[in-house]
Amino acid sequence: MEHIGCECSATSRQRVADCLGQEKLPLDRILEAGSELCIIFGSTTDCNRCIKTKRISKWLIQMTIRLICFYEAAINQTLPSRTPPATSGEANSLSLQQPSTTMGFPEMRFGEVHIEGPEGHLLIKLALVEACSHLNETIQIWKMTSDESLEAADQKHLVHYNDRVLGRCLDLLAKLIGLLRLDGLMADQS
Ligand SMILES: [Zn+2]
Repeated sequence: MEHIGCECSATSRQRVADCLGQEKLPLDRILEAGSELCIIFGSTTDCNRCIKTKRISKWLIQMTIRLICFYEAAINQTLPSRTPPATSGEANSLSLQQPSTTMGFPEMRFGEVHIEGPEGHLLIKLALVEACSHLNETIQIWKMTSDESLEAADQKHLVHYNDRVLGRCLDLLAKLIGLLRLDGLMADQS
C-alpha cells in the first residue's frame, strides 16, 4: 500500500462534523455520532501521525464539546426533574397534566420508534450513561497519549489548552453521569 499520510479516515471525521454541526438531532443520531467520535479518538490515539497533529487535536476537542451539548440536551429532555423550573409551582404542575399517557415523561423519538413511559426512559438513561462513560474513558486515554507526544514536540500551550477545555468537558460528563444515576436511584425508590 502507498504511504499517503496514514490510514485514519478523513471521511468519518467529516461525517461526524456534519452530523454534530446540525442544530437538532434525534437521539439515535446523537448516540451514533458519539460512538463514531469515540472510534476516531481511538484511531487517533493509535496513529503516530494524527496524535501529533494540532489541527486534529483541536477538532477532537471541538467535536467533544458539541457532543456533550447534545448529550446534555438529551439528558435534560429525559429527566423530568431537569426541565427548567417554572416560575411558580402551579405552572409546573399544570405542565405535567398535558394529555398524554407518559406520566410526565416527555415523548422522545429513537429513530422511528417513539419512546414512552418510565421503561422507555430507563432504557434511554442507560444508553446515555453508557455513552457518557465511554466518551469519558476514551478522552482520558487519548489525552494521556496526546500530552506525551505534544510535550515531546514542545507544544506546551496546546497541552494547557487541552487541560483547560477538556477538564471542563470531563467535569460536565461526570456531572451528567451523576445526574442520570441519581435519577435512576430516585425512580427505583419511589
Ligand atoms: Zn492517522
